[in-house]
Amino acid sequence: MSGLVVDIVDLPRATGSVKSLQIRTPAPADLGTGIIGVPEGSELTLDVTLTSMDDGVLARVDADLHIHGECVRCLRDLDENRTVRIDELYLFPEAIETQRAQGDEEAADLLAVGETTLDLEPALRDALVPTLPFQPLCRPDCPGLCPDCGQRLEELPADHHHEVLDPRWSALAGLLGTGTDREDGLGSPTDEEGAEGDQA
Ligand SMILES: [Zn+2]
Ligand SMILES: [Zn+2]
Repeated sequence: MSGLVVDIVDLPRATGSVKSLQIRTPAPADLGTGIIGVPEGSELTLDVTLTSMDDGVLARVDADLHIHGECVRCLRDLDENRTVRIDELYLFPEAIETQRAQGDEEAADLLAVGETTLDLEPALRDALVPTLPFQPLCRPDCPGLCPDCGQRLEELPADHHHEVLDPRWSALAGLLGTGTDREDGLGSPTDEEGAEGDQA
Protein backbone atom coordinates (compact mmCIF):
# COMPACT_ATOMS: atom_id res chain seq x y z
CA MET A 1 0.00 0.00 0.00
CA SER A 2 1.28 3.43 -0.96
CA GLY A 3 2.56 5.65 1.83
CA LEU A 4 0.16 8.29 0.55
CA VAL A 5 -2.91 6.32 1.59
CA VAL A 6 -4.37 7.76 4.78
CA ASP A 7 -6.47 5.84 7.26
CA ILE A 8 -9.78 7.58 7.93
CA VAL A 9 -11.35 5.01 10.25
CA ASP A 10 -10.73 7.37 13.16
CA LEU A 11 -12.15 10.43 11.39
CA PRO A 12 -15.68 10.96 12.76
CA ARG A 13 -18.27 11.28 10.02
CA ALA A 14 -19.89 14.28 11.76
CA THR A 15 -19.41 17.38 9.59
CA GLY A 16 -16.56 19.52 10.80
CA SER A 17 -14.62 16.68 12.46
CA VAL A 18 -10.91 17.05 11.85
CA LYS A 19 -7.94 14.71 11.72
CA SER A 20 -4.41 16.03 11.33
CA LEU A 21 -1.30 14.03 10.65
CA GLN A 22 2.13 14.22 9.12
CA ILE A 23 3.35 11.73 6.55
CA ARG A 24 6.93 11.05 5.59
CA THR A 25 7.24 8.62 2.71
CA PRO A 26 9.32 7.85 -0.38
CA ALA A 27 7.87 9.41 -3.55
CA PRO A 28 5.93 7.07 -5.81
CA ALA A 29 6.91 6.57 -9.46
CA ASP A 30 5.65 8.85 -12.22
CA LEU A 31 5.09 11.91 -10.04
CA GLY A 32 5.85 14.30 -12.87
CA THR A 33 6.26 14.34 -16.64
CA GLY A 34 8.88 12.33 -18.47
CA ILE A 35 11.40 15.19 -18.33
CA ILE A 36 10.80 16.81 -14.95
CA GLY A 37 9.27 15.67 -11.69
CA VAL A 38 9.78 14.21 -8.24
CA PRO A 39 12.45 11.49 -8.33
CA GLU A 40 10.99 8.13 -7.33
CA GLY A 41 12.03 7.29 -3.79
CA SER A 42 12.96 10.86 -2.81
CA GLU A 43 11.45 11.99 0.47
CA LEU A 44 7.98 13.47 0.58
CA THR A 45 6.76 15.25 3.69
CA LEU A 46 3.05 16.01 3.91
CA ASP A 47 1.17 18.01 6.52
CA VAL A 48 -2.35 16.68 6.19
CA THR A 49 -5.61 18.04 7.57
CA LEU A 50 -8.74 16.04 6.84
CA THR A 51 -12.14 17.55 7.53
CA SER A 52 -15.45 15.67 7.37
CA MET A 53 -17.93 17.38 5.08
CA ASP A 54 -21.57 16.59 4.28
CA ASP A 55 -20.74 14.68 1.11
CA GLY A 56 -17.13 13.67 1.63
CA VAL A 57 -13.77 14.53 3.17
CA LEU A 58 -11.86 17.72 2.47
CA ALA A 59 -8.12 17.09 2.25
CA ARG A 60 -5.84 20.08 2.84
CA VAL A 61 -2.20 19.14 2.36
CA ASP A 62 1.10 20.96 2.20
CA ALA A 63 3.51 18.61 0.49
CA ASP A 64 7.22 19.38 0.67
CA LEU A 65 8.95 17.72 -2.23
CA HIS A 66 12.00 17.81 -4.44
CA ILE A 67 11.79 18.37 -8.17
CA HIS A 68 14.50 17.29 -10.56
CA GLY A 69 14.78 17.88 -14.27
CA GLU A 70 17.10 19.05 -17.01
CA CYS A 71 17.20 22.26 -19.05
CA VAL A 72 16.02 21.24 -22.52
CA ARG A 73 18.49 23.63 -24.17
CA CYS A 74 21.74 23.24 -22.23
CA LEU A 75 21.05 19.98 -20.36
CA ARG A 76 22.03 21.55 -17.03
CA ASP A 77 20.50 19.84 -13.96
CA LEU A 78 17.52 21.63 -12.50
CA ASP A 79 16.79 20.99 -8.83
CA GLU A 80 14.23 22.72 -6.69
CA ASN A 81 12.46 22.16 -3.40
CA ARG A 82 8.83 23.11 -3.51
CA THR A 83 5.76 23.06 -1.31
CA VAL A 84 2.66 21.96 -3.18
CA ARG A 85 -0.75 22.81 -1.74
CA ILE A 86 -3.56 20.32 -2.17
CA ASP A 87 -7.12 21.43 -1.50
CA GLU A 88 -9.28 18.58 -2.64
CA LEU A 89 -12.72 17.29 -1.77
CA TYR A 90 -12.94 13.51 -1.77
CA LEU A 91 -16.56 12.48 -2.20
CA PHE A 92 -18.35 9.58 -0.58
CA PRO A 93 -19.20 6.99 -3.25
CA GLU A 94 -22.93 7.75 -2.90
CA ALA A 95 -22.27 11.45 -3.58
CA ILE A 96 -20.41 10.51 -6.76
CA GLU A 97 -23.31 8.25 -7.78
CA THR A 98 -25.70 11.14 -7.29
CA GLN A 99 -23.60 13.43 -9.52
CA ARG A 100 -23.33 10.71 -12.14
CA ALA A 101 -27.10 10.19 -12.08
CA GLN A 102 -27.52 13.94 -12.62
CA GLY A 103 -25.52 13.62 -15.81
CA ASP A 104 -22.33 15.27 -14.57
CA GLU A 105 -19.80 14.28 -17.21
CA GLU A 106 -16.90 15.02 -14.91
CA ALA A 107 -18.14 12.61 -12.26
CA ALA A 108 -15.70 10.00 -13.54
CA ASP A 109 -12.79 12.30 -12.62
CA LEU A 110 -13.95 12.95 -9.07
CA LEU A 111 -11.90 11.59 -6.21
CA ALA A 112 -13.65 9.10 -4.01
CA VAL A 113 -13.21 8.33 -0.35
CA GLY A 114 -12.37 4.66 0.11
CA GLU A 115 -14.11 2.48 2.67
CA THR A 116 -11.55 3.12 5.37
CA THR A 117 -8.87 5.07 3.55
CA LEU A 118 -8.23 8.02 1.31
CA ASP A 119 -5.46 8.03 -1.32
CA LEU A 120 -3.62 11.35 -1.55
CA GLU A 121 -1.53 10.30 -4.55
CA PRO A 122 -3.96 11.30 -7.35
CA ALA A 123 -4.63 14.65 -5.67
CA LEU A 124 -0.90 15.29 -5.29
CA ARG A 125 -0.35 14.39 -8.93
CA ASP A 126 -3.18 16.71 -10.04
CA ALA A 127 -1.81 19.56 -7.94
CA LEU A 128 1.79 19.17 -9.08
CA VAL A 129 1.99 17.94 -12.67
CA PRO A 130 0.08 20.80 -14.38
CA THR A 131 2.49 23.28 -12.74
CA LEU A 132 5.57 21.63 -14.23
CA PRO A 133 7.01 23.25 -17.37
CA PHE A 134 6.64 21.38 -20.69
CA GLN A 135 10.06 22.67 -21.72
CA PRO A 136 12.12 23.14 -18.55
CA LEU A 137 14.75 25.87 -18.86
CA CYS A 138 17.52 26.90 -16.46
CA ARG A 139 16.52 30.50 -17.33
CA PRO A 140 14.13 31.91 -19.94
CA ASP A 141 16.91 33.17 -22.23
CA CYS A 142 19.21 30.15 -21.92
CA PRO A 143 21.24 30.23 -25.16
CA GLY A 144 21.68 26.44 -25.15
CA LEU A 145 24.52 24.55 -26.76
CA CYS A 146 26.71 25.39 -29.73
CA PRO A 147 25.34 23.21 -32.55
CA ASP A 148 28.86 22.51 -33.78
CA CYS A 149 30.85 21.65 -30.66
CA GLY A 150 28.10 21.01 -28.08
CA GLN A 151 29.55 23.36 -25.45
CA ARG A 152 27.34 25.72 -23.46
CA LEU A 153 27.19 28.96 -25.43
CA GLU A 154 27.06 31.09 -22.28
CA GLU A 155 30.40 29.65 -21.19
CA LEU A 156 32.02 30.52 -24.52
CA PRO A 157 33.17 33.96 -25.74
CA ALA A 158 30.50 36.03 -27.52
CA ASP A 159 32.30 35.72 -30.88
CA HIS A 160 32.55 31.92 -30.62
CA HIS A 161 32.07 30.34 -34.04
CA HIS A 162 33.48 27.62 -36.23
CA GLU A 163 35.21 28.45 -39.53
CA VAL A 164 34.46 25.11 -41.12
CA LEU A 165 31.36 25.43 -43.28
CA ASP A 166 29.22 22.46 -44.10
CA PRO A 167 30.53 21.42 -47.57
CA ARG A 168 26.96 21.14 -48.88
CA TRP A 169 26.37 24.82 -48.07
CA SER A 170 29.67 25.83 -49.71
CA ALA A 171 28.70 24.00 -52.88
CA LEU A 172 25.22 25.53 -52.91
CA ALA A 173 26.59 29.03 -52.34
CA GLY A 174 28.99 28.52 -55.26
CA LEU A 175 26.20 27.40 -57.59
CA LEU A 176 23.96 30.31 -56.69
CA GLY A 177 26.77 32.80 -57.18
CA THR A 178 27.68 31.45 -60.63
CA GLY A 179 24.05 31.25 -61.74
CA THR A 180 23.38 34.88 -60.89
CA ASP A 181 26.53 36.10 -62.62
CA ARG A 182 25.71 34.23 -65.79
CA GLU A 183 22.19 35.60 -66.09
CA ASP A 184 23.30 39.17 -65.46
CA GLY A 185 26.33 38.91 -67.67
CA LEU A 186 24.83 37.12 -70.68
CA GLY A 187 21.20 38.22 -70.75
CA SER A 188 21.29 41.92 -71.51
CA PRO A 189 24.31 42.20 -73.85
CA THR A 190 22.84 39.50 -76.14
CA ASP A 191 19.52 41.35 -76.39
CA GLU A 192 21.25 44.60 -77.12
CA GLU A 193 23.44 43.04 -79.78
CA GLY A 194 20.41 41.43 -81.39
CA ALA A 195 18.52 44.71 -81.45
CA GLU A 196 21.45 46.57 -82.97
CA GLY A 197 21.89 43.85 -85.58
CA ASP A 198 18.24 44.15 -86.69
CA GLN A 199 18.46 47.88 -87.02
CA ALA A 200 21.61 47.81 -89.10
ZN1 LIG B 1 19.89 26.03 -19.90
ZN1 LIG C 1 31.16 25.69 -30.90
